[in-house]
Amino acid sequence: MPDDDAEKRRFEASEALCRRCGVCCHHKVRFGDVVVITDVPCEFLDTATNLCAVYPERFRRQPLCSTAESSVAAGALPGDCPYVGGKSDYPAPVLLADHPEYEQAVNAIFPERLGHAPKPAKPRPARRSRP
Ligand code: SF4
Ligand code: SF4
Repeated sequence: MPDDDAEKRRFEASEALCRRCGVCCHHKVRFGDVVVITDVPCEFLDTATNLCAVYPERFRRQPLCSTAESSVAAGALPGDCPYVGGKSDYPAPVLLADHPEYEQAVNAIFPERLGHAPKPAKPRPARRSRP
C-alpha cells in the first residue's frame, strides 16, 4: 500500500511536468478524426497567468475538465505537451490559429467569437504536424 508521502511525491512530480502554457484549457472541437483546439478558454482559466482559478475543485466545477492521463488518451493535449512524452503515434490535435478552414464551423459552436475573440494562451506551442 503506497504511503502518503510517496503518493504526494508522485503527484508533485506529475504536476511539475506542466509548463503552465494553458493551451489544454481551451475548448476543443472534433471534426472527424481531427481535434481542433480553439481560442475559447475555459471559463475558469485565468488568461493572464494561464492558471486555473478553481484547480483543487476543477473536476466538480467544470465537467469537461479531465486529468492529464485522460486527456492524452483522448488526444486532447498538444503534441509538445510534456505529458504526451514525445509519443510518435500520438494523434496530436491542431490549433485553430493554424487551420482557418475550421473558423466558420467553430464560430457556429462558439458564436461569442464573432463579437469577442479571447486571446490565445501564451506561450504559443510549437507547431507540430499530425503523425
Ligand atoms: S498543454 Fe500540457 S503543459 Fe500546457 S497547460 Fe496543458 S498540461 Fe500543462
Ligand atoms: S477547470 Fe480544467 S479546463 Fe478549466 S481552467 Fe481549470 S484545469 Fe483548465
